[in-house]
Amino acid sequence: KERLKDGLSALSDYAVTREMLKISSDMMNVGATVSRVRLQFVLIGGVAFGLLLGICILIRHNILKPLLSMANFLRDLRQGRKTGELSPARIREIQQIMDMLPLLRSAMEQLSMRTSLLMEERDEYARLSLKDALTGIGNRWALEERKKSDMPGLPLAVIMFDIDFFKKYNDAFGHLEGDRCLQQVASVAKGSLHRHSDAVFRYGGEEFVALVPGADPEAAVLIAGRVRESIRDAGIDNPGAPGGVLTVSVGVACRCLGETTTLDALMAQADKALYSSKRNGRDRVTVFSE
Ligand code: GH3
Ligand code: MG
Ligand code: MG
Repeated sequence: KERLKDGLSALSDYAVTREMLKISSDMMNVGATVSRVRLQFVLIGGVAFGLLLGICILIRHNILKPLLSMANFLRDLRQGRKTGELSPARIREIQQIMDMLPLLRSAMEQLSMRTSLLMEERDEYARLSLKDALTGIGNRWALEERKKSDMPGLPLAVIMFDIDFFKKYNDAFGHLEGDRCLQQVASVAKGSLHRHSDAVFRYGGEEFVALVPGADPEAAVLIAGRVRESIRDAGIDNPGAPGGVLTVSVGVACRCLGETTTLDALMAQADKALYSSKRNGRDRVTVFSE
């Protein structure tokens, strides 16, 4: 039993010694790997630094230095110094080129000035194309443009008006006088709209549309009445009309806050209301209702 115990103890010592030897050999391997990696790191870092330094030297030597010396040379040349290294003909060429630089700059300035003038002209033509040539107010295209910025949900009143018996006016005074009358009607209508955001457009021959943003139905009726009365009060003779004076028939359509009626739909409603005014005896305001 004693011998067996000694034998087991010797076996255990042996196993422990083998394990220790193995661990120590592994540790030595790890140490070697760490020093190899450290060496590689130092080597790669050194090569990268060397390369960077080389590139910097190359840039400085091949690009910066020649540029700097050329700039210095041209400056000396312009000031009349250091002319011995080039032939006089070449120097003259270079001087001519340098003398042309201010001219080139002024040509560039002129070009940019002309470009901005052309852009201004383009904007002016764009503005003119939205103006009615006869009356100077917005035309139908301007109204179409206005539709793009319309915001359903916000209050808006559309006031559409048409001159009564205008054919008779033309028959009585001729088309030229008819044109003058249209100018006067446009100007009076414009004058009866007070806010900057209000606008009047010539929609067709003797038909106009006023847009009044923010107006509720009561305000719209008030403004439409003002337009009708101011044109009547202008006292333009129209011998063919029952009262002998030029009048307009008006149709009104309103969009209240939160409603989503489009401007197109409002115009159709105002048109219907306008024709009610015509049917019911002219020279009056009708508000559209379903
Ligand atoms: P209503 O009361 O029903 O509107 O009758 P009206 O005579 O005004 O309407 P109608 O549609 O019968 O005639 C419109 C006239 O407007 C006919 C046309 O010669 C005239 N007109 C349209 N545009 C112009 C224009 O630019 N200049 C002139 N002078 N007349 C125009
Ligand atoms: Mg008419
Ligand atoms: Mg008409």
